[in-house]
Amino acid sequence: MNKTTFHRAIATLAFALLACVCWVAAGLVSDRMVQQELAASMHVEQQMAASIVDNTAQIIASDLAMSRAIPATIAEMDMIQLALAQSHTSASETAATEAERRTRWLAVPALTRIGNFLRNARGFTGLDYVWVVNGDGFCVASSNGIDPSSFVGVDMRARGYIQKALLGAFNETYGVGRTNGDPGIFIATPVYRDGFLVGAVIAKVSVDRLRHWVARAGTFVTDNNGVIVMAHESQLENRVMPDSPVLRMSRAERLDAYRRVDFRTFRITNIGERVRMDAPWLPPALSHAFFAADDSTAPSLYDERTGLNSGLAAHIVHPLPNWAEIVSNQRRDRLLVFITALGVSLLAIVIAVSYLRERRLHRATRHLADQLQSANTLLSAEARHDALTGALSRRYFLDTLRREVDLARSAGVPMSVAIADLDHFKQINDRFGHATGDRALEHFVRMCEEQLRASDGVGRLGGEEFGLLLPQTALADAHTVLERLRKCFNQEHCAYLPDDTTLSVSIGITELSDGDTAENLLKRADLALYAAKSGGRDRTEVHPADSKPPVPRHPETA
Ligand code: GH3
Ligand code: MG
Ligand code: MG
Repeated sequence: MNKTTFHRAIATLAFALLACVCWVAAGLVSDRMVQQELAASMHVEQQMAASIVDNTAQIIASDLAMSRAIPATIAEMDMIQLALAQSHTSASETAATEAERRTRWLAVPALTRIGNFLRNARGFTGLDYVWVVNGDGFCVASSNGIDPSSFVGVDMRARGYIQKALLGAFNETYGVGRTNGDPGIFIATPVYRDGFLVGAVIAKVSVDRLRHWVARAGTFVTDNNGVIVMAHESQLENRVMPDSPVLRMSRAERLDAYRRVDFRTFRITNIGERVRMDAPWLPPALSHAFFAADDSTAPSLYDERTGLNSGLAAHIVHPLPNWAEIVSNQRRDRLLVFITALGVSLLAIVIAVSYLRERRLHRATRHLADQLQSANTLLSAEARHDALTGALSRRYFLDTLRREVDLARSAGVPMSVAIADLDHFKQINDRFGHATGDRALEHFVRMCEEQLRASDGVGRLGGEEFGLLLPQTALADAHTVLERLRKCFNQEHCAYLPDDTTLSVSIGITELSDGDTAENLLKRADLALYAAKSGGRDRTEVHPADSKPPVPRHPETA
């Protein structure tokens, strides 16, 4: 694997890792968002379901209270109480058939009056039937007494609500009419006369009249045996809640109360765990409120109000209307957050990489500039000094000389200049080698530095010829100093030469005069040097300042 492929593999891996991290982070964020959305939505829906079921319970209570008031009022009527007190069932009546009893009692004026009253009362009370039962459990008058199928003459003792009423208990119950199969609420009120129980008034309100109890979708009402007696969705009627008392009733009891024996269970199951398998973001606290009716998979809320009058209970199965939308929102949000997070991360990486590159480039540039600076410094130092002897370079010496000429002239101070040339130097090289010659040159420069002031300048004009610059020094003083230098050089042995070998130097000196240039000065010093050489070498010669330009001799100083 070459370097590029390796880098590509690393970049792909890093991108995949980043994408994974973004995906997980997007999951967390979108889960949080959808949880908040769901919690808000469920809060509203739960409140709505609770208010519907509360409302149903209130309507049931008020309707039944009104329905109960009518038989109770009838039971207080003197006409009813008196007729019942006088209507004990005789032995002959007990032995007679229903039809015989009916014919006989319909002919009794007091009972006929009651029958007429009940028929009229039924009309304006909103009840379906009203019966008056005597203390022996026989129906003696009915709101539909003239109807051949009326209960007048019928022995009604077998009915539970009548038994209870004849024992003095006001009661109401749901039941299905034995003759017409019409379900309704039966309200039974005992009738007393002078403190004695003389019979009961029974009223029936048909379920059809109470349909408004379940006007809202999802609502249904169960009786005290758990049977659904009324439901907005009519197919639920006559089904039973799980583990209801009706399931423990005998066949005969079921037939007696409901005119049927088979009841299919209506299951309302908590599907929180099942929903969490598809939507793992659903928090357990919310999932507990998820129900489904029967085999439906649509999540719904369930609420109930039990212990209402007549053992009734109001229920609601309220579907969560925007569940599917919330689920798809979660998927959409996750994708959006993922794309945003990935984009922002990539942008951040691009910015960071650009910044680092820029900084590295900046550092490299600065480093290069530093290197250039030190190289320049070194170069300029090298340009100023002669590499072998450390004396000033020819060029720098001449620059310095020109500067000093200007300074001396403007300050009006003297200045001397000399040229020193080592004697017979070629022979030194020839006898001891070029390297030894170099040491001798170094030796001379060292000696100059020892003998001259720090403010004096020593420059190598070429080969074994040196320029000496003595600012603020008059010619006589310069002569003295350079004479001392010459002697020292001659007398002080150079360590690199044999003991019997001595060195000597010839020096030509001159002084700055008015209108002098650096070039003139050097030319005069050169003439003086020529004189020293001609005079036998190892000596100093002076060329005083004059106005005549000297004749050039030496090509190196030209
Ligand atoms: P004179 O006394 O007349 O000055 O004789 P001279 O031999 O010194 O003069 P000449 O000009 O004939 O010879 C100068 C010699 O200096 C020739 C050259 O080889 C030598 N020389 C010039 N530059 C250097 C240098 O850098 N190192 C060494 N070792 N020798 C040098
Ligand atoms: Mg020489
Ligand atoms: Mg020379």
